[in-house]
Amino acid sequence: MQRITRRAVLAGSVSAAALPLLSANAASPPAGEQTAGIYRYKIGDFELTALYDGIWYRPITEKFIRNAPFAQVESALADAFMPSDKLATPFTTLIVNTGQKLVLIDTGTGGQIAPSAGALRANLVAADIDPKAIDLIVISHFHPDHINGIKDKDNELVFPNAEIMVPDEEWKFWMDDANLNAAPADLKLTFRNQRRIFSDIARNVARFEPGAEVAPGIVTLAAPGHTPGHTVFAIHSGDQSLLVLGDTAQHPAVFARHPDWQATFDIDGDAAVATRKKLFDRAAADRMLVTGYHFPFPACGHLLKTPHGYEHVPVEWQPEL
Ligand SMILES: [Zn+2]
Repeated sequence: MQRITRRAVLAGSVSAAALPLLSANAASPPAGEQTAGIYRYKIGDFELTALYDGIWYRPITEKFIRNAPFAQVESALADAFMPSDKLATPFTTLIVNTGQKLVLIDTGTGGQIAPSAGALRANLVAADIDPKAIDLIVISHFHPDHINGIKDKDNELVFPNAEIMVPDEEWKFWMDDANLNAAPADLKLTFRNQRRIFSDIARNVARFEPGAEVAPGIVTLAAPGHTPGHTVFAIHSGDQSLLVLGDTAQHPAVFARHPDWQATFDIDGDAAVATRKKLFDRAAADRMLVTGYHFPFPACGHLLKTPHGYEHVPVEWQPEL
């Protein structure tokens, strides 16, 4: 007996006389869950895997941007089809397979920021990557959404065989108890979280200076402002390269279009803006592929310079590597 499917009807391979039978078919049950968040691409010989960790709709107030009236911020959020009282903050980590090493750049939220984030481990499974196979973790900066994935909620290491490398400047700033004591109450939570993550593994955490090559083909560049030691990564293989922007800008619909805006989460707003413009100008002029930790998944694409700022052009999904 010929099985009649909607697809067959649409394709015209079932006669019109058979159509009434369709109503007897049971509806397909809804899947009820999202598919895995994985995207692969290549830079030269390196295979990169972008892994989605989820999204946080960060509540914001009129104080969110220090140097722009909130009406302008609301209008930018509306232009990006975002709610006016929340900033869409997606998280995408990146694994670089250099052929020698599996390198994880930033570690996601560890399911410890928002209920709608923490999908990294499920997406590692879906990507068939064993956390034990990660050789090296490189950290851009010490905000919790970048370091919490080092440990699970029970403080067990998620990537037990990985060496961990962090920017020396970040370590010096955040692990200094004088800075902790001088910080306002909400920032103290950030300092305490860093001690939870790093204190008992400090001996095994290596620190790098800007310009260091943390693995062959992965070079660090100082990108201060968002935090004092915030670091971006230039990945080179063959004649291709990728700039890993970290939090140089958060959602591009807000901060690429308005590169002068200083958000409350930038520790040094002037420096953050200067770093953003310098790196974005370079990426736009060189037509470099970039990825941003808080860009919409798969978080990579290009930056175009516009009269007032920049526009992010997302990568086209490639069916083959
Ligand atoms: Zn971040």
